Amino acid sequence: MKSPLLRLGLLALGLLIAPGPASAAKIVVDAGHGGTDSGAIGVNQLQEKEVTLDIAGRLRDLLVQHGYEVAMSRTTDTYVSLSDRVAFTNAQNADLFVSIHANEYSSPTTRGAMVLYYDDAYPQSSYPASDAMRALTPQSKALAQDVLDSFVGTTGLTNRGLVESAVYVVRMGQIPSILVETAFLSNQADAALLADSTMRQTMAQGIARGIEAYLPTSNVVFPDTLGHWAREAILRLKAQGIVDGVGRSFEPNRALTRAEWVTLLGRVFDLSKAQAGSCSAAGGTVAGAVYGSGAAGGGGCEPASAGAGAAGAAAFRDANAGSWAFTALDKAVKAGVLEGYPDGTLRPDRPVTRAEVAAMFQRLAGPALEGTLRQPFKDVPPSYWAAGAVAALTQAGWVNGMTANQYMPERSITRAEATALLDRYLAANPKK
Ligand SMILES: [Zn+2]
Repeated sequence: MKSPLLRLGLLALGLLIAPGPASAAKIVVDAGHGGTDSGAIGVNQLQEKEVTLDIAGRLRDLLVQHGYEVAMSRTTDTYVSLSDRVAFTNAQNADLFVSIHANEYSSPTTRGAMVLYYDDAYPQSSYPASDAMRALTPQSKALAQDVLDSFVGTTGLTNRGLVESAVYVVRMGQIPSILVETAFLSNQADAALLADSTMRQTMAQGIARGIEAYLPTSNVVFPDTLGHWAREAILRLKAQGIVDGVGRSFEPNRALTRAEWVTLLGRVFDLSKAQAGSCSAAGGTVAGAVYGSGAAGGGGCEPASAGAGAAGAAAFRDANAGSWAFTALDKAVKAGVLEGYPDGTLRPDRPVTRAEVAAMFQRLAGPALEGTLRQPFKDVPPSYWAAGAVAALTQAGWVNGMTANQYMPERSITRAEATALLDRYLAANPKK
């Protein structure tokens, strides 16, 4: 057990070597009005609150696809006060606030798009702004201009320009804030456009592109892990060269394959020093042959198939010497960490199960189970082939059950779960 001080030191080191921005660009998308507040009513009876919610949802989806984290001030037809919208935004630690509205005017011929922001050069004495918003005038204005340009460019709507405004949500926040008046519900042609789902999507695209112009996300690492519970662990292990993405993505919820798992093990442990064939069922140190299921082998410590071990991965008919994972597979087989199936296959692309992960990991990392085997999981009885490994790793705090009393040993492990396991291990046992 490492001392608390050492753990703290390691944590600090982890923070120092963490790459890039700790969190990605985060946008608060605010659908105007809602609930008892319907907003403007269109000449076609369309309610502003419906239009804003639909466009906001489309905008959220586009932003998430483009690597942003998004928080919505409302996702249903509910009333949210203006001060609650600002309070919500302040609590998000977000980068930008974008409110979506549709306009109305007494003249039915007035149409087009405009973007509102707070400008300290045009203060309104009866509507004082927050100090932060006053200071953020250049940022809000630049954001407003980028979004307006992109919006009218994408939709072809009339450009009614920027508006220096004292509306509450762009005046009282702490981050660059704008309000997009998409089009006029009081104008026949605009109202028809606002009723059209294709046009709403185009409007959302226009806003998203404007946000992207102001705040690019090209430097976001693994955008598909934004908001994922394992993102911090994934970034730590990427910084240490242990995990890779698939292109720009990490695919955190995809099942980890056997080839990927031994590749990760090879980056954390020196497989050439691993104890080949170490297998002691006593005391719970179940190394366990890595069969496909608990039914195979039963004892779990029997050698898998003839040809394993010294001959390496080449002994298996499905191990392709030209494949990206061959070296890692070969080392793992020679180290006795990975064993094949009785039919002479290694099945490198098969998802690795949570039991197999526990068994292989314990073989390399220990720990031996201390004391008597106390298994918290109802689905891992003492007779289960990997029971010792699961218990030991649970005791060490490196693995968790899927629920308080279920480990789900036959379930495949996700890339995020495997990364979290290695992250917890490395926090306590840093790589030398
Ligand atoms: Zn409105």
